[in-house]
Amino acid sequence: MHDVVDHLRTMYENTPVLVAAYDPFDRLRYANRAFRAAYFIEPAEEPFWPDLMRRNFHAGRGTVIRAPDFEEWLVSTLSRRGKAGFRAFETDLADGRWLWMTETVDAGGWMLCIASDITSLRAEDRAVRQDRDFAIKAAQTDELTGIANRRYVTAMIEDMLGQPARGDGPAGSVALLDLDNFKYINDRYGHHVGDAVLRDFARRIQALVRRTDCFGRVGGEEFVLVLPATSASQAALLIERMLTVIRRSRPLNDRPDFAYTFSAGVAESMTADCVASIYARADKALYAAKLAGRNQLILDGTPGQATPRQA
Ligand code: GH3
Ligand code: MG
Ligand code: MG
Repeated sequence: MHDVVDHLRTMYENTPVLVAAYDPFDRLRYANRAFRAAYFIEPAEEPFWPDLMRRNFHAGRGTVIRAPDFEEWLVSTLSRRGKAGFRAFETDLADGRWLWMTETVDAGGWMLCIASDITSLRAEDRAVRQDRDFAIKAAQTDELTGIANRRYVTAMIEDMLGQPARGDGPAGSVALLDLDNFKYINDRYGHHVGDAVLRDFARRIQALVRRTDCFGRVGGEEFVLVLPATSASQAALLIERMLTVIRRSRPLNDRPDFAYTFSAGVAESMTADCVASIYARADKALYAAKLAGRNQLILDGTPGQATPRQA
């Protein structure tokens, strides 16, 4: 057995196929020589995926990113990266090579990436395939914020509820996040300020979720977090942090005093839950959070659902 592992390690190191593994925090924990060469990684380096992409983008190497604003591209890509069990797509490198990239995510959130060079393969149809990938992405994306849309979020809740139970924990939790007094913000400052606030919110919240979580916009100023293998109380810790980050945000350069808040309702999955039932419980908790004065979080099943968890 040991022999086989040693052989595999040596073969991985020498094959032109790109091989890498990321941990659940999206930190690169293994990369063979071909992968390190394509993405300019030093042998002992273990960068986080967003940092790796950012530095290559600014150096004009690695993955070709066809977006004028890297940070916008990153938020959008993170909201759909590494959640489904398996994904495959074509991607091109700044050096002109085309790769067929596969991503396999296990139940613990580790991701295996394997890519082979397809530069010489069916290049004539490449534009058609790219258009198709672009259309798929557009169908899963909210246009204003770039994060996942209702369709994608609903599919992620379905996936989560369909996972076989692990230990005695819940399949996960769903949280609804709704901006407070958003109509007032629009009326007082104008629609373009409202839009800027929505984009600020999407960017800041996306930065706080794990790769296996899903964050999406499902309505005007309504957002959803899908948190697999997460209890309601673990979800509450995360959302308290989000409440703090948003309270401190000052999204408008020309109005340095402008601040905003949101309210949230959280529901933990139960056996026999469907998308509609868990969503309805989270929505009820959100309504309770609004009634209790906004700018706070309420968990489904909180006695009376009228006591704020935090003043
Ligand atoms: P509450 O604290 O109870 O949630 O109050 P609210 O004002 O946030 O809630 P309400 O649902 O009454 O208002 C939501 C507003 O969001 C109404 C609509 O004008 C605005 N809205 C919806 N979609 C967009 C959008 O894409 N951009 C902007 N700027 N505003 C939007
Ligand atoms: Mg609102
Ligand atoms: Mg609303």
